[in-house]
Amino acid sequence: MSVKTILIEPNKLLRQVSKSVDKVGDEERALMDDMLDTMYDAPGIGLAAIQIGVPKRIIVIDISRDENEKKPMYFVNPLIKNKNEEKIKYEEGCLSVPDQFAEIERPNACEIEYLDYNGKKQILKADGLLATCIQHEMDHLEGILFIDYLSKLKKSIIIKKLSKIKVNREIF
Ligand code: ZN
Repeated sequence: MSVKTILIEPNKLLRQVSKSVDKVGDEERALMDDMLDTMYDAPGIGLAAIQIGVPKRIIVIDISRDENEKKPMYFVNPLIKNKNEEKIKYEEGCLSVPDQFAEIERPNACEIEYLDYNGKKQILKADGLLATCIQHEMDHLEGILFIDYLSKLKKSIIIKKLSKIKVNREIF
């Protein structure tokens, strides 16, 4: 297990559509272990494989935020089967969009079908923070970032700020 570098917007890879996983094997499990390490290290509550540069439809989530009682969740090829009409707003952030936050509205509950860490098919009904987090991470699989839901002006301000961070990082 190791901590990987998280890609930061603007980065073309983050805009790529991730590919379905044929089979959950050792390679995928090693990837999920690395993703979890990277997410805990950041720290964050969710991470998609593309955020460490791997275009596979895999996400990891742990919304427990508890050092002593970690509750990792693994989703391979997640599909939303149902979503609630009712919406909920959360102030969202993203490990690929550092230090930027915005209120985003999403369905407050959804039902997801996916393969787990062992490649077993599962169905999960999620609501509240977990539902929001799953939808945020699933957007990454389509190359979508939460800032894409903001107005053009707001989005361009954030991207400008992030570009500056990148330049500074390259100087050092
Ligand atoms: Zn994100």
